[in-house]
Parts: sequence; C-alpha cells; structure tokens
Amino acid sequence: MPRYSLLDIYRLLPGTNCKECGLENCMSFASALLDRKKKPQDCKPLFENEKYKEKREKLLDIILPAIKEIEINGIKIGGEDVLYRHDLTFYNPTAIFIDVSDTMNTDELISRVKKINRFSIFRVGQDLKLQGIALKCKSNDAVKFGDAIINVLEHSKLPIMLCSFNPEIIEIGAETCSDRKFIIYAANAENYKKMTEIAKKHDAPLVVYADTIEDISLLTQKIMEFGHDKLILDIGTYPEGSGLRRTIENMIKLRRAAIDDRFKPLRFPILANPSVVWLYEKDYYEACMKESYIASLLMLCYADLMILHGLETFEILPLLVLRQNIYTDPRVPVQVKPGIYKIGKPNEYSPILVTTNFALTYYTVANDVEGKIDCYILVLNTEGLAVLPALAGKKLTADLVKEHIEEYKLENYVKHRYLIIPGLAAKLSGEIEEKTGWKVLVGPMDSSRIPDFIEKEWKKLNLQ
Ligand code: SF4
Repeated sequence: MPRYSLLDIYRLLPGTNCKECGLENCMSFASALLDRKKKPQDCKPLFENEKYKEKREKLLDIILPAIKEIEINGIKIGGEDVLYRHDLTFYNPTAIFIDVSDTMNTDELISRVKKINRFSIFRVGQDLKLQGIALKCKSNDAVKFGDAIINVLEHSKLPIMLCSFNPEIIEIGAETCSDRKFIIYAANAENYKKMTEIAKKHDAPLVVYADTIEDISLLTQKIMEFGHDKLILDIGTYPEGSGLRRTIENMIKLRRAAIDDRFKPLRFPILANPSVVWLYEKDYYEACMKESYIASLLMLCYADLMILHGLETFEILPLLVLRQNIYTDPRVPVQVKPGIYKIGKPNEYSPILVTTNFALTYYTVANDVEGKIDCYILVLNTEGLAVLPALAGKKLTADLVKEHIEEYKLENYVKHRYLIIPGLAAKLSGEIEEKTGWKVLVGPMDSSRIPDFIEKEWKKLNLQ
C-alpha cells in the first residue's frame, strides 16, 4: 500500500484554502499531489512562509517517490511507489532500448537505427514504440565508438545509452555526444570513480553494475558520497538455468528493499539486460523467443529499463502489449472521446453502430468492421465503462443515447433513422425507440459478427 494517505498529505498543508495553487482548497491540492498532477512547490505559502518549515520538510519526505524518477530526453523511468499496481498505480512504463554496436558496418548500423526509430504499433488508442538505443562498444576502440555515436545521433533523436566498462572510451563518447543527453553503462567496483566523474560532469544517469545486493548497495553508497545520485541498478541478467531464478529473486529483493524498507542505496530504477540471451542461444528464432519471454518475466519483476537485441515484430509485440497492460492506470479506464466516428467512407445510407467509450470496446468494434463495411460509430460517454458494466451502473441508458444523438446531430449524417446497438444492450431497445424516435436494430453479442449482420439484416432494409 502507499505509505501515506490523502489525509496525511492534507495535514501537512497550510490548511488556509487560499487558492494560490489554482485549486479550490487544500484538500483538492492534496488530491492533486497524490495523483502527481501538482508538485509540493505549487503551494507557495508552504515554501515562502518559514512557519511551515516543519510541515514542508515532512511533506517533501513522504511525497518523494520510493524509487527515484530519472528523465532522459523526455523518457522517464522509475518514480514508482508501490510493489503492486492495485495498491496505487505504476507511473513510468519500462523503457525499451535496442542495442547496436560499433562493430557493425555503417550501412547496417544506420539501417538498424532507422528501424528502431520507426518501430510503432497502434493498439487501444496508443502508439506503442521503442524508447532508445543502447550503443555497445565491442571494438574497445574510441575512434570507432565515436564514429558510431555520430551515426546514431545523426539518424535518431531517441535517447542513447553509451555502453562500455572502459572509462576512457566512455569519456570520449560523452564528449562526442556533447549537447545530447545520454545514459552511461556502466560503473562497477573497478571503474566507479572515473565513471562517476564523467557522469557528474555531463549530468548523465549512470548504470551501476554488481551481481549481489550487498555489492551493488555498497557501490551506490560510494557513488552517492561522490555526489552523484542519478543511478540505475543492474544486478545482472542470467538467462540460463538457475541463473534466471537468481536474476528474478535479485530484482524482487532490490525493489522490496527500496519500497518496503526505504533503503536509500537501492531506491533507484532497475535495468534488465535480456540481450545477453544472444550470447548463449545460437538459433536465431529460438533466441528471439527466449529473449522475449525473459524480457516479459523481468518486466513483471520491476525492470524500469531494458536492453534488447531482437527487433522482430513477433518478439517485440507481446512485450509492448504486456507493458501497456501493466502500466495502464487501474484507477482510470482507458477512454476514447465520445462522438461520431467514420469508418471507411460512409454515406447518408450507412449504418450507425452504437458503442461505449471504453477504449478496448471501441477499438475492438472499429477493428472488427474496418475494411469490411463503411459505417459510423456513435461513441457514448459511459465514463470509460464497457457495455455490461455501463448497463449495470446505469451509465448506458436510453437518455444517454438521446443526449448523444442531439449533441452530435446525427440527423445531419444520415437520411435514415436506424441505430444498431450492441447485442448486450438489447434490453434498452424499446426505451431508446420511445425516447429518440429512432428505430433500433439489436446487433450481435460479438462485434466480430457485425459485418455478417450488416450483410444480412441491414441490407434487408433496402435503404439504397
Ligand atoms: S496554495 Fe497551499 S494553502 Fe493555498 S489552497 Fe493551495 S494548498 Fe492550500
């Protein structure tokens, strides 16, 4: 559970309801803080008046996320506060970086970078994309690494991770990046002093690698003593046999220590590196599949950032869908805007399908009819509920249908007066006809059968 409640936050505000924060009262501000829609600093009296010093410090202490939030070129990782999504929500989806290396020839490198840039899958109203490029220095040659950096920067605006355990290579790479932000991979027990200097100089997030909890927490403490705290934890990804179990256990222990115990040295995002699968698995398709399922497992075990090698759609798609599901806020149903949507090229005799504004419902209906029929979809504002819960909660009613017909002026779109409602909403048909004056056809229970339904039932109407 989150370690503080709305009331806990409210008690630490001035309580004067002065509205300087732009909200009606301190309780609304407490709620906005809880939802991360406002920052504590937005309450000016709290920060300007010394009599609130104690409250301010306590508030800052409790409101700070258990896991540090790190931002790189607009991509945020970490910032989490709970172990289980249903306790509150998860905020920042796992960022997926795809590796490239400085031993690739230039054409191969550029073509891979371009493929990473354009990788995008549209699902439930969102473009699912990749977040960054991990450039591995396999040559151990600073010149080659520098050339590869220039090529990546020239062909992509995505965040870049510079990967080498050699501080000299990283130092030259960091200078080459100059005005672009980057992540450094990685500091270990041998190189951490020099890596920390470079990370501090460029204000770059630094991945810290060690393969036990004790070693990684000692290392982060030392790095923090040197004055750098934009850290990301890599406790090693071992894909084979008991190594995978150890990886999962370690990642869970890291996150529990950070959230349950608020153990400062471990309150950082976690990096997983499923790309190591390719070191062990030589069969191309086996490697893609294995990398995909290991990445899925590690995403479920709190990986905030991961490096992958495979770039096949069949490998990445399940991961992106899983990520979309995990990081959807359980408190807010995913919604589409209510209104009238065109599918294909509808005309004034085309059918109007009625559905709800729960995104999954709308996109299921739209995908089931797209390319098969031309029609309109009237999306009702059921506050993001699907058909059955909307009926049960009285969010889908004949009055609502009437309001939407009037608001979106349906009569301007078609010459007929027919609506097709979902099969699950059949019981509303009579009431809708009475209240709206439109005839109702009860559609199928399953939207995949709508095209057949149109072929058989709609055409019987002989509208034109
Ligand atoms: S500015 Fe601060 S004191 Fe004033 S209403 Fe907002 S939260 Fe309350």
